[in-house]
Amino acid sequence: MNDQETQRRVVIIGGGFAGLFAARMLRRAPVRVTLIDSRPHHLFQPLLYQCSTGILSEGKIAVPLRDLLRKHKNTDFVLAKVTGIDAEGRRVSATRPLGDQLEFGYDYLIVAAGVQQSYFGHDEYATWAPGMKTIEDALVIRRRVFGAFELADTAADPAERSRWLTFALVGAGPTGVELAGQIREVATKTLRDEYRHIKPEDARVLLFDGGDAPLAPFGPELSAKAARTLAKLGVEQHMHSIVTNIDGTGLSVRAQDGTVTRHEAATVLWTAGVAAPSVAAAIAAATGAKQDRAGRIMVGDDCTIPDHPEIFVTGDMMSLNKLPGVCEVAMQTGIYAGERIKHEVTGKMPTKPFRYRDLGSAAYLSRGRAVVSVGRVHLSGFLAWVIWLFIHIGFLTGFRNRLGALVSWWPAFVRDVRRERTYTTEQVGLIHSAYDVLPPAAAGAALTGNTTGAELPRAGTEPSSRTG
Ligand SMILES: Cc1cc2nc3c(=O)[nH]c(=O)nc-3n(C[C@H](O)[C@H](O)[C@H](O)COP(=O)(O)OP(=O)(O)OC[C@H]3O[C@@H](n4cnc5c(N)ncnc54)[C@H](O)[C@@H]3O)c2cc1C
Repeated sequence: MNDQETQRRVVIIGGGFAGLFAARMLRRAPVRVTLIDSRPHHLFQPLLYQCSTGILSEGKIAVPLRDLLRKHKNTDFVLAKVTGIDAEGRRVSATRPLGDQLEFGYDYLIVAAGVQQSYFGHDEYATWAPGMKTIEDALVIRRRVFGAFELADTAADPAERSRWLTFALVGAGPTGVELAGQIREVATKTLRDEYRHIKPEDARVLLFDGGDAPLAPFGPELSAKAARTLAKLGVEQHMHSIVTNIDGTGLSVRAQDGTVTRHEAATVLWTAGVAAPSVAAAIAAATGAKQDRAGRIMVGDDCTIPDHPEIFVTGDMMSLNKLPGVCEVAMQTGIYAGERIKHEVTGKMPTKPFRYRDLGSAAYLSRGRAVVSVGRVHLSGFLAWVIWLFIHIGFLTGFRNRLGALVSWWPAFVRDVRRERTYTTEQVGLIHSAYDVLPPAAAGAALTGNTTGAELPRAGTEPSSRTG
């Protein structure tokens, strides 16, 4: 038997921060790693809002996982969507694009599949109000934001024009605040001289949240500063407001006193709420793990599922001591899981329980304005913005992307120029998910754009094993 056959198998579900850092930790360990992700890229979610508002291209915030893993000789990448596990038989089942079933055996499993947008039981809102989690979301938002100004420019009816020039955001956490500020900057700076029939600066940006203030997790002092900066930018803040309906022309909102107000807004964006994806429920059912209210899997202080020391849950999908869903938690838990496995297979001392080192948080408000909170240190304004800049340059994945982001930020921050405003006016590419099982001809077209699909394999349901 060669080494490959005797080495333990580690399957990692998800190539976000947690999965990627786990794979990096295992790079030189005597294990065979299979990293499965339903998308081909590692995405830097914190800069999605800059992609959707024309500062950065999608290529600058997403890196092919194959590229990132090319020097990991013990790691195989598989593009597939994990659907469930057999905890007894230690097998993971997945669907390959076009619908075929795959199976992977494991000795250790690291679950790092993140979270997705939650509409708090109102999934019908998704039709009108895209969320902000994926590249697809960012490109839809880019089209809706820049497209709204075009439709306002040619609208003959003043009410219609005003509707196109009204942007509503639901959720005043970091994503909502960052997007709200960016849309006002697009309107008042980037598009200032480009239109002949409208004044882009007339665009209204309404920010709704059920809480007391924007950026509440940053504490009252920074939250108040953020509210003042947003007000100066022209963002209209509606706190203590619960959205009761969203449709194609606007939204209805209930205030604290119970009154419901209708707001006409052609662009509504959803930046509130997360929930674990369906694979979390499948894993919980197979292992008996408990889930919290958002569906995240509850783990012990070694990041494993009780009674399953071989299954780690890391990053956003993990529920442990109310840790927040942020990159640092994902990276640190990914590293921890990788290290623990490495220690076990090499017979080293057992790793200590997981301890989170809080390195603080930062949110961008507008050009030259940010808030940063590190322990007892609370900063806002220009200094915080400089710190924000360094943090994001440091954490962006890949040297080329760091350099590329700097090159794109220079004209955006100095001259209000946004070079990444391209969007399509016709449906391009997939209208189905790549994982839907379609008739053979349609399946070919769905994945490749090939209109006949003739030479592509049929979608089937027979499982085939890869690492078992
Ligand atoms: C808009 C936005 C802004 C943010 N800003 C900040 C910020 O400023 N600072 C900060 O610290 N954090 C921020 N976050 C949070 C941060 O991005 C997350 O905490 C972090 O990405 C979590 O990493 P993860 O690896 O757990 O999950 P993710 O990064 O979400 O990765 C999960 C991976 O799993 C894959 N996957 C999911 N389901 C399956 C499946 N069934 N089969 C196979 N693969 C699957 C996905 O394709 C994805 O690649 C932000 C998040 C968003 C959405």
